[in-house]
Amino acid sequence: MTPNPNAPPGCGQLQGVRLPAWCLPPDWPRHDGELAAARIVWRHGVIEEVTPQEHADKACRHLVLPALVQTHAHLDKAFTIARTPPHGPGLLAAIEAVIQDRQHWSAEDLRERMTQGLQAASEAGVALLRTHIDWMDTEPPIAWQIAGELAQAWAGRVRLERVALVPLRFFSDRAMAMRIASAVHASGHDAVMGGFIHTSNWSHEALNHLMQAALSRDLDLDLHVDEELNPRAQGVAAVVRLASELKFSGVIACSHACALAAQPTAQALATLDAMARQPQIRLISLPATNLLLQDAQIGITPRQRGITLVQEARARGIPVLFGSDNVQDPFCHGGSFDPLQAFTLGVYAAQLDDPFDSWSDSICRPGWLSRAPHALPLTKGAPAELVCFEPQPACSWPAWSTSRRILQKGDWREPRQNAIKAH
Ligand SMILES: [Zn+2]
Repeated sequence: MTPNPNAPPGCGQLQGVRLPAWCLPPDWPRHDGELAAARIVWRHGVIEEVTPQEHADKACRHLVLPALVQTHAHLDKAFTIARTPPHGPGLLAAIEAVIQDRQHWSAEDLRERMTQGLQAASEAGVALLRTHIDWMDTEPPIAWQIAGELAQAWAGRVRLERVALVPLRFFSDRAMAMRIASAVHASGHDAVMGGFIHTSNWSHEALNHLMQAALSRDLDLDLHVDEELNPRAQGVAAVVRLASELKFSGVIACSHACALAAQPTAQALATLDAMARQPQIRLISLPATNLLLQDAQIGITPRQRGITLVQEARARGIPVLFGSDNVQDPFCHGGSFDPLQAFTLGVYAAQLDDPFDSWSDSICRPGWLSRAPHALPLTKGAPAELVCFEPQPACSWPAWSTSRRILQKGDWREPRQNAIKAH
């Protein structure tokens, strides 16, 4: 794959590349069971056409995906691990460590670390990044404001969405819930209402206030919900029930939902059945932090993986996405803003079959975070934003896919300097 240096800005084409099955029309031709290669043409930064190439060489082809989506990050916490004192294992100990770190969260500190995160995501081929921002009060924190500034500064490279990560107890009071929703609503179209819902802070009344407040301001929701293996966790089931009762019109993303994997199968599947009847609900799995923080005890190999029921959810038609969650902070000392790394963990932890053709949509469907869930990328008029991998059989993806070229607004970006060559 050699970009044409003579192509006008924003214009070009790719020939003989392999696109995933989910991205193609059902009648796309096959040869000996293998999907035919594609020719992708774009002009002035938008897709002009995607057509099959009947006689293209069937040897190893470049694998091509639409631009990646980072569905779940925490830019305000990222890159703090170097200054974090030792702390205990598990989710609640990490939360306490972050509380201690907030004394360092000046505007300068936040801007520098958040920019570093955006840069890393952009280099990985991310066109949309959704970050949660901790709210320690009912008023927007400084990190919220900085994220808004960065959203403008990075427009055209990475579209940044902000989720207000608000402790559930702040919603105990209905009037306070309404004030928070008003502040989120006033922040602009990139703002989403969020919350942390866990058995340690469970309140059905507060969740009800949270969802009513979001509904009153026509806000979408993205909730950290049931990030635990306590089978008595009832956050996801309650969100689904309230979404139905309130006739919630916006998008609801349920992030984590680990407890579904710890509950009796019939109970968990009944919750997913109810979720599938609410088409505005999506499920976001965060394999890295789940594997690290669930069933975590010092000196003991974890028995439970903490991955939510992604296969059962998808079988019911629920949009399932993967995200990275934390990067180099007390929740995840390593981590990456590259969605492909989170996805790769998900492939192994959840034993996903046919990753390229069947599951790669879980990091490439921005519509699933919006109210236009059926919008497919790479249709005529869509942004010409692609990630192009080295020639390889589809079955080798994502294992051999560190190296990639990124098309942004119809122009190829310079290759990543630190990319490791695929085999
Ligand atoms: Zn998170």
